[in-house]
Amino acid sequence: MTIKTQLWQRTDASGELDNVIKEAAALLRNQQVVAFPTETVYGLGADATNEAAVRRIFEAKGRPSDNPLIVHVGERSQVDELVTRIPDVAEKLMDQFWPGPLTLVLPSNHKAAHNVTAGLDTVAIRMPSDPIALAILKETGLPLAAPSANRSGRPSPTDAEHVYQDLNGRIAGIVDGGPTGVGVESTVIDCTTEIPIILRPGGVTKEDVEQLIPRVIIDPALAGQTEHQPKSPGMKYTHYAPESPLWLIEGDDEFFRQQLEALKDEGQRVAVIASHELASQLNHEHVTACGSREHLAEVAGELYRALRHYKKTDIDVILCESFPEHGVGAAIMNRLRKAATQKIKQY
Ligand code: AMP
Ligand code: MG
Repeated sequence: MTIKTQLWQRTDASGELDNVIKEAAALLRNQQVVAFPTETVYGLGADATNEAAVRRIFEAKGRPSDNPLIVHVGERSQVDELVTRIPDVAEKLMDQFWPGPLTLVLPSNHKAAHNVTAGLDTVAIRMPSDPIALAILKETGLPLAAPSANRSGRPSPTDAEHVYQDLNGRIAGIVDGGPTGVGVESTVIDCTTEIPIILRPGGVTKEDVEQLIPRVIIDPALAGQTEHQPKSPGMKYTHYAPESPLWLIEGDDEFFRQQLEALKDEGQRVAVIASHELASQLNHEHVTACGSREHLAEVAGELYRALRHYKKTDIDVILCESFPEHGVGAAIMNRLRKAATQKIKQY
């Protein structure tokens, strides 16, 4: 079924923006789904307390129903309404990192709709910092379930144009707030265990968290130890995939060049996603430079745009550089490993 998708163009006039927010909020209160910018990626929002509204998110995205959604709030008091208790560690994390790209998994009191939590006894909550996201949340007065606003399996949208490509005709509206800043999704931390567990690396780094709380561990499933089932159900699905197969190259620059030349010699149409440092050394037509190795926040900001750039009609294989895994590099490499169809290691 196709529905009419309203697109609210980007506006700098505050009066106009106020109207956009009112219109978007009215649709959301009416159990419709609307995409809006957050500081991480564009989110696809719906009333988190209403099962029928949330079902529309799963239908529009084609998302598996056992993958729970993150609930977004505009006020701290809304957290109390969704959970049975707030552990001390969660209070500390909220004080330090909210509003911002950190999601906390907390014990649910089941006020969030059953399909938001995929039937779990926990609920994942965050407060975004993007002014448009916050204004929409405040205007609705509702907690909003808001996964990334892409078709399931595709790279997350970092621009309204990406949302339009994936969801035009499937959702009630898209609020264009321009490109998002962080570019990768929030960090998800389970606060229901004695020692908090990072279930998904993201915009807030492990190093940032360790400054605040003495012990935090990473879900062993993230380290590729596949005998462990990921505790975050969504981490097991294919994600972030570009149209053409992505090969992740782990090695030095010379190794990367060899892989590229070998494929070109075979007559393959190859595209490259790389840092400025590597891109500037390559003599090749299809190269997308996505920031510096020295500034991984730049790479995070450009990553999904780069993954969406190449069409399968033009390109047979995309070669992508591996990035250092410190700071936000952990999130970048987590997404690239999930997007990759092949990993090619030098050693
Ligand atoms: P997305 O909404 O696409 O950004 O994905 C949300 C991420 O949070 C997925 O990896 C989910 O599996 C994870 N998540 C959401 N709710 C929970 C929960 N209650 N427990 C553990 N992980 C969760
Ligand atoms: Mg997503």
